[in-house]
Amino acid sequence: ELSKTGWLLDITKLQLGENIGEGEFGAVYKGEYMGQKVAVKTIKCDVTAQAFLQETTVMTKLQHKNLVRLLGVIPQKGLHIVTELMTKGNLVNFLRTRGRSLVQFHTLQRQTYRRKYVCEGMEYLENKKLVHRDLAARNVLISDDNMAKVSDFGLTRVDFKVSDNAKLPVKWTAPEALKKEKFSTKSDVWSYGVLLWEIFSYGRQPYPKMSLSEVKERVEGGYRMEAPVDCPPSVYSLMRICWEIEPRRRPTFHKLREKLEQEMGSQNPVLRS
Ligand code: ATP
Repeated sequence: ELSKTGWLLDITKLQLGENIGEGEFGAVYKGEYMGQKVAVKTIKCDVTAQAFLQETTVMTKLQHKNLVRLLGVIPQKGLHIVTELMTKGNLVNFLRTRGRSLVQFHTLQRQTYRRKYVCEGMEYLENKKLVHRDLAARNVLISDDNMAKVSDFGLTRVDFKVSDNAKLPVKWTAPEALKKEKFSTKSDVWSYGVLLWEIFSYGRQPYPKMSLSEVKERVEGGYRMEAPVDCPPSVYSLMRICWEIEPRRRPTFHKLREKLEQEMGSQNPVLRS
């Protein structure tokens, strides 16, 4: 199927460079394909190739400035997935290493753009009726020009049921998804609220010091994280509506983007990075 659609790449044109990350199934490398800088995700064994092909098939259908773009695949020595290179790595590391060092004012401005980029990528998925299921700052990557893009569509499915609950990212997953496996765009919206919290706490682990079972139980009982120290009240209220227990009461990504734009309209003009 992939060969027919032109997603098969030629391994002789690929140069692998240094290791830049570790995924669940194998390493991620920097590389070059016909003069273009790329990232190459590899897998070690054939058993998981199927899961990767699934991820790839979803990715071929997605083209948006705020989603990490697939360039193609090479089904050799397992599988190589070639995507655009996001030189500044994932958002968690980015926030941890650079977040606080920036001047406060600019930090807030940049975060405004970053959360809007993520929201726009997610609005695109929402329109396509695709559920991400694993939206978190670790799955947002930063490009050389500081664009934030959503990555890791491994769990993305058009259908809304999962059988394997064991590996769910508990601290990012909505209660109805944890309990009843009800994944939807609205459960992605919940995760987006947690991502906002991560941004404003400079890449801290959500629900600090709480165990996964504690998080499950307390969130179900109505507990919500407090606003991070540097978080404006307007942003915190966005988090809170993303964390409504009733999925219908959470906003859509479309609505969230409108709110973010309104908020930006009331700020001074600034640099984009
Ligand atoms: P997990 O399932 O635990 O989220 P994974 O198996 O899906 O991990 P990735 O998240 O895709 O693996 O990749 C692991 C790391 O490699 C990322 O956190 C990031 O730092 C780096 N990485 C992945 N893709 C790219 C890319 N396109 N450009 C630059 N770095 C990347």
